[in-house]
Amino acid sequence: MNSLLLTGGRVIDPANRVDAVTDLLVLDGKIAAFGSQAVKDAPAGIERKDVKDLIVCPGLIDLHVHLREPGQGAKETIATGTAAAARGGFTSVVCMPNTSPAVDNSGTVALIRERAAREGAVNVFVAGAITKGIAGEELAPIGSLKRAGVVAITDDGHCVQNNELMRRALEYARMFDLAVMDHCQDYALVSDGVIHEGYWSTVLGLRGWPAAGEEMIVARNVQLAELTGARVHCQHLSAAGSVQLIREARKRGVPISGEACPHHFVLTDAAVAGSEKFWVTDGKGVFGYKHGQPNLPVWPAYDTNFKMNPPLRSAQDRDAIIEGVVDGTLEILGSDHAPHCGYEKEVEFDYAPFGITGLETELALSLMQLYHTKRLSLPDLIAKFTVAPARLLRLNKGTLSIGADADVTVLDLDREWVFSADGTASKSRNSPFYGWRLKGKAVATIVGGKQVWFEQS
Ligand SMILES: [Zn+2]
Repeated sequence: MNSLLLTGGRVIDPANRVDAVTDLLVLDGKIAAFGSQAVKDAPAGIERKDVKDLIVCPGLIDLHVHLREPGQGAKETIATGTAAAARGGFTSVVCMPNTSPAVDNSGTVALIRERAAREGAVNVFVAGAITKGIAGEELAPIGSLKRAGVVAITDDGHCVQNNELMRRALEYARMFDLAVMDHCQDYALVSDGVIHEGYWSTVLGLRGWPAAGEEMIVARNVQLAELTGARVHCQHLSAAGSVQLIREARKRGVPISGEACPHHFVLTDAAVAGSEKFWVTDGKGVFGYKHGQPNLPVWPAYDTNFKMNPPLRSAQDRDAIIEGVVDGTLEILGSDHAPHCGYEKEVEFDYAPFGITGLETELALSLMQLYHTKRLSLPDLIAKFTVAPARLLRLNKGTLSIGADADVTVLDLDREWVFSADGTASKSRNSPFYGWRLKGKAVATIVGGKQVWFEQS
């Protein structure tokens, strides 16, 4: 049933330093053989898939996804969120705990895992909360969350402000060998900011969210990771100063890692002033686009699909995020897929919730900004979606080793396509990238040897 012979593809498995044109045999949901052995061992009548000129890599992992269940099924469900993941080429996602109720108890972890096993198109791993109710006041029962199967803890959407409490969380996490993922935001500095504090916040009359509000907590996390020895992962970094802090800390051997999301290395805060302003100023930093081209994507000023937390920052910050990804400081890419209902986003900029969907566009945007620009090799890029998150979270995933689960993604690097609201599997429509011409696409997503999605040609 879950067996397949993929023939003639370029197989890239960064975990095993494999990069070769070869056949790949999947038997009963496991990686079984490569090369001539694959053909030899393939049972008669096995389904064959010609993947010549395509990339075959370990199934991609997105460690930062909001599936919104339980409690917010109007925005997204496990079924729709994982369907979007499959379309985007992702075979595993890690769902964030800021649901309703929050994932701060073993019952909710069990509920999500059960529902995901039944309705999920891809593997779902659960992140538990650091604090009860994600309120930042009292630690969640970290040991029982671990026993219930969480792969990390985070208060994502919120940030533990009390440094002593965060220290205790790190000590527990270390004891249970869990990574702590942190949404880095100093509440006092950020206050009710909605856009990067800079030129555009002033021009547009929107309250600023200063870069220092992120950097302050990254610096705190560096200190506490060093003090406790716990693995700390700084989520969705947006500011140049954060990259520098992580770079220096990693050089000293501090167990800290950082994550970049495509919107932070494609867009800038000028986008909040509308498409015309963006294409004239910072648009030249987007692969394949320049001002004056026909059919540039168009959007108005104050478009709430450009409101996320942390916010889009300056072109200089965008460059620093790219530099951090390229030099290995930021070793993990994620989407921060954050679906919201139309009625929630269709309000004044100040009142709209933060966040955009991202599972279906992150691969293409990453290929464009990092690979097609020749900044990063393909194995290095794939590593950031596979072996790197797997290593951080101790997942038995992210590789094509013989005997591993046959989670496989097939990519067409040069496929040009336009992302549209009609073409999304997500329940929500809050992406800034509708109408964008993208380059690079997953054409088949295989989970445990089963094709859960493939591009109809
Ligand atoms: Zn967050």
